[in-house]
Amino acid sequence: KEVDLANPEVVRYIVRRFGLHMNKKLGQNFLIRHEAVAAIAEAAALTPGEQVLEIGPGIGTLTQALAETGAAVRAVEVDAGLLPILAKTLAHYDNVQVIHGDIMRVSIPDIMEHKPFTVCANLPYYITTPIIMQLLEQRLPIRRLVFMVQKEVAQRMVAAPGSKVYGALSVAVQYYTQAELLFEIPPQAFMPAPEVTSAVVALQVRTEPPVKVQEEARFFKVVKAAFAQRRKVFRNALQGAGISKETVTRMLREAQIDGERRGETLDLQEFAAVAEAWTKTLQ
Ligand code: SAM
Repeated sequence: KEVDLANPEVVRYIVRRFGLHMNKKLGQNFLIRHEAVAAIAEAAALTPGEQVLEIGPGIGTLTQALAETGAAVRAVEVDAGLLPILAKTLAHYDNVQVIHGDIMRVSIPDIMEHKPFTVCANLPYYITTPIIMQLLEQRLPIRRLVFMVQKEVAQRMVAAPGSKVYGALSVAVQYYTQAELLFEIPPQAFMPAPEVTSAVVALQVRTEPPVKVQEEARFFKVVKAAFAQRRKVFRNALQGAGISKETVTRMLREAQIDGERRGETLDLQEFAAVAEAWTKTLQ
């Protein structure tokens, strides 16, 4: 068996040996604890031969744990300086392919050979939400996504209506997936230690959305409008998004939603009802 990379001494050695400077702008906080890495990889629930996408392998710590399951790993790393390191640390694994690129720009279907896959990543925190949103919105054949993110972001993903952190991300994540906050990881599990606590979430992609909407785009427009102006009541938030007063009144009446409520109190069902009512007013 290869050297376990998830170990403070090993990571320190690699950093020194390659003269590596962690790039803060790219969110480079590398995991150094075996238990944390093992728990994240386990949460991905991989089986041998199945495809898994890792975003930002860093020096290959989590990549190694994923490779050890026998899954076919594709790891996309934006920092070219890490490629020679990854070539060394993962040399032993013929089931790993490292791809140089920005996850927001590469063609994920091509990388995953148009097959179903799982996603597992310790995400760079500066770009967490855009990465998650694009993975979900692209409607890729993803089974499950396991992410380590900032604890606050994890809480937003699983938040219920009315909670302070319930927002557009909560609705989108819960529309596409069944989201579960699994466990927290302290700053000391990383090198360098970030200022925030992290948490691991598992998002199991749904086969059917939990609410029925004729036009998904309209549903998300309503959601976006509701949270764009959080201090406004729902009626005014909808008008603020450019929908006429008359249409808003008709929509709300049809959906039987009190326009004086705040948007953030609406659940998925209610957002769907408003979106459906909007579609109806246009017919
Ligand atoms: N997986 C490693 C670990 O757990 O130790 C590193 C995780 S570190 C938090 C985030 C990684 O994502 C870094 O290696 C960083 O260079 C990479 N990264 C940042 N932005 C990226 C992007 N747009 N596309 C692909 N990788 C990116």
